[in-house]
Amino acid sequence: MLTARTSLGIVFFPAYDWAISPTHPEREERLLYTQDQFREEGLFDISGISEHRPLRAKDEDILRTHFCFPGLEAVCTESHRISAGGALQAARLVMEHETERAFALVRPPGHHAMKVVHGNRGFCNINIEAVMVAWLRQRYGLRRVAIVDTDCHHGDGTQDLFWHDPDTLFISLHQDGRTLYPGTGFPFEDGGPKARGRTVNIPLPPLTGDTGYLKVIQEAVLPILADFQPELLINSAGQDNHYSDPITNMNFSAQGYAQLTALLQPDIAVLEGGYAIRDALPYVNLGLALALAGCDFSAVREPDFRSGRFQESRNVMLAIDYLCEQARQTYFHPEPQDCQRENGFFIRERRIYYDTDGITEMQREELKDCGECSAYRIVRSACRQNGPCLGVEIFADACPRCESEALTFFHQKKGDFKSAQLMDHKNQVWQYGH
Ligand SMILES: [Zn+2]
Ligand SMILES: [Zn+2]
Repeated sequence: MLTARTSLGIVFFPAYDWAISPTHPEREERLLYTQDQFREEGLFDISGISEHRPLRAKDEDILRTHFCFPGLEAVCTESHRISAGGALQAARLVMEHETERAFALVRPPGHHAMKVVHGNRGFCNINIEAVMVAWLRQRYGLRRVAIVDTDCHHGDGTQDLFWHDPDTLFISLHQDGRTLYPGTGFPFEDGGPKARGRTVNIPLPPLTGDTGYLKVIQEAVLPILADFQPELLINSAGQDNHYSDPITNMNFSAQGYAQLTALLQPDIAVLEGGYAIRDALPYVNLGLALALAGCDFSAVREPDFRSGRFQESRNVMLAIDYLCEQARQTYFHPEPQDCQRENGFFIRERRIYYDTDGITEMQREELKDCGECSAYRIVRSACRQNGPCLGVEIFADACPRCESEALTFFHQKKGDFKSAQLMDHKNQVWQYGH
């Protein structure tokens, strides 16, 4: 009988009744073959690997993370609550020492969902990792968290959610945004004015394979993590870097994924993308689970895998050397950047496109710059479908002056907007204005 060297809890939620459309790549049967593969390989017969049911994310769990416009129910279905709840269960298992590690094999995914949610972007409505981190902080008092996003697409939603947070290190490895959705994730995107260097983007050239990915983990990600010393390490484990994935252009294999996981040693892995549901997901998920459990994964192979098939060109490896250097530079020596400032606020103005739902959001964010606390932010957001909306977020360490300024602003202005949401981490109040 096999025994896991590291006990592993697997939270499985395939959401067989939820899809964007019947032919969409993020569809019901995405985890069907994985489930069969686990059964066939006897994964749950290994002593120390256990299966767990997801929790269900409550209103407050979502509303302490996202501004949902025009309201929570409009953007968050039961499947989204359970998918996020799967991540919460994974977090609970690890924090309460029921298992040493956990793997949330859930869908729908979340890493393209930003702070403001008007609808679906890149198959995501609710950012399940961010909901999990906010829950962990509230429930267990955790502070320093690192998220390493190894999905093939830039984790633009997770980046946005933690942009101003110096206690969260976000590292995203992804296919270069000049060649793939969502078109962002360049090294100059390195965090907000109070969190410079806490966002690290590593945009990999198309056709990067096992050698390249593992090099980036060893030469960029691990040294940065060793310095940051997170209390908890989360891996957004997208599987669409696989050579058979139908919507991306990378050459990563199931063996490569397993080796990456063994190097990274995340406390919690959360499934993100991955659309080769028969040719990749069953093998990659098996490799990940075995690596997380500290078991031998050397036999995990796709039926059509041949070693040496996907060796990177010299140019790809040269580009990767440069990217590793650049990533270390971003974290260890972030450069000061010019931020737009007005009357004591840092300003960000953006247009955000929701590809799945065809929504164009215009957003203005004002972050109060207080010398004594993290203060608060005001987000004005509008799209054709929802009209003007207001979000006010008060951070947990807000000083009394900032707290009262933000609350006064919210209660005076809320009537001018179609929807207004208060996110008050200091007093634990999550509510809509009217
Ligand atoms: Zn993806
Ligand atoms: Zn203050």
